[in-house]
Amino acid sequence: MTTRRTVTGSRTETESLDKPMENANFTFNEGDPISRLPFLPDQIEPDSFYPLLDGGSQITEDDIEPPPEIEFPGHAYLEGAEHFVHQMIEAGWKLVSHHALPKWLKDNDFLLHGHRPQLDSFKECFKSVFAIHTETGNIWTHLLGFLTFIVGAIYFVTRPSLEVQWQEKVVFSVFFIAAIVCLGFSWLFHTVYCHSERVGKFFSKLDYCGIAVMILGSFVPWLYYSFYCRTTPKMVYMISISVLGLASIIVSLLPKFGEPEYRPLRAGLFLALGLSGVVPAIHFCISDGFYMAVTLGAFGWLVLMALLYIVGALLYAMRIPERFFPGKCDIWGQSHQIFHIFVVAAAFVHYHGVSKLATYRLTIGDCLAPQELY
Ligand SMILES: [Zn+2]
Repeated sequence: MTTRRTVTGSRTETESLDKPMENANFTFNEGDPISRLPFLPDQIEPDSFYPLLDGGSQITEDDIEPPPEIEFPGHAYLEGAEHFVHQMIEAGWKLVSHHALPKWLKDNDFLLHGHRPQLDSFKECFKSVFAIHTETGNIWTHLLGFLTFIVGAIYFVTRPSLEVQWQEKVVFSVFFIAAIVCLGFSWLFHTVYCHSERVGKFFSKLDYCGIAVMILGSFVPWLYYSFYCRTTPKMVYMISISVLGLASIIVSLLPKFGEPEYRPLRAGLFLALGLSGVVPAIHFCISDGFYMAVTLGAFGWLVLMALLYIVGALLYAMRIPERFFPGKCDIWGQSHQIFHIFVVAAAFVHYHGVSKLATYRLTIGDCLAPQELY
């Protein structure tokens, strides 16, 4: 209820009450304070009663037009800046210690301070991308990788067909899409992780799926060019890794999978999925010889990629280095950030290795007769 304050039209309480008193079916002593009238609801201020009695003819503050504001250059800009600052202050949330976190946000016991609290707002979560806290490094390592792969993919698929043929564009696109999905789900997960338990769990599943997608997408161009002319092993390996990849995605969607005590299982599953590439690698060594595998099969790059993934996954599973320096790696240098950097580095190494392998395969020309190719 808004209170209208009388500005003009001075009347005494008795004057204003003369008229309604004629028809009123109660009595009161003259001089009684108006605020004690029996029909006045408590919340109506006496002043606001007067305009109602005489048809609202009185002038109130609402009726007075404010003087026109004098604009000066930069006024709108300053107002905008002030509004922005106000918004930032209003949105203010404080970083919290590990012990103050709700149970579902307590993922790493060795990160003691600098955590975001539960934010309950996507807007706040996305604004926190530009703040410094325990997830800043995790977000940006994969956000930058994500943007780089988008730009790289657009550059690759828009090459003229004389430079890159459509088959190569399709095969490499599988890898690009996988990398973009993996890194995209990852930075999104780290951004909205603190929204709420429900949202955090949902996006953590997408994050795990993204890892399986990345491994799957990495296998496709490698198997395609390694067994370029050998349709049977190529198809067998492609189907095998697809089945294993889909199985990993299904397992990673299980509700229990995301809980902290399953961290070694998670690392183990993705490690096993990646290491299943040993089988086609040995096959290639036997069929083409070790020398060919190392020189033209880009094995060196593949081994480097595998090492990056394995070391990254081990650091992640064992929470090194923060377990040796609790509280010292809260913002920068924690195992998860190192793991993220290794994942991005491994993706670049893989792209480089498979590009070399593809170049070699394409320069030696068309396939020979199928029966000679096992
Ligand atoms: Zn991550």
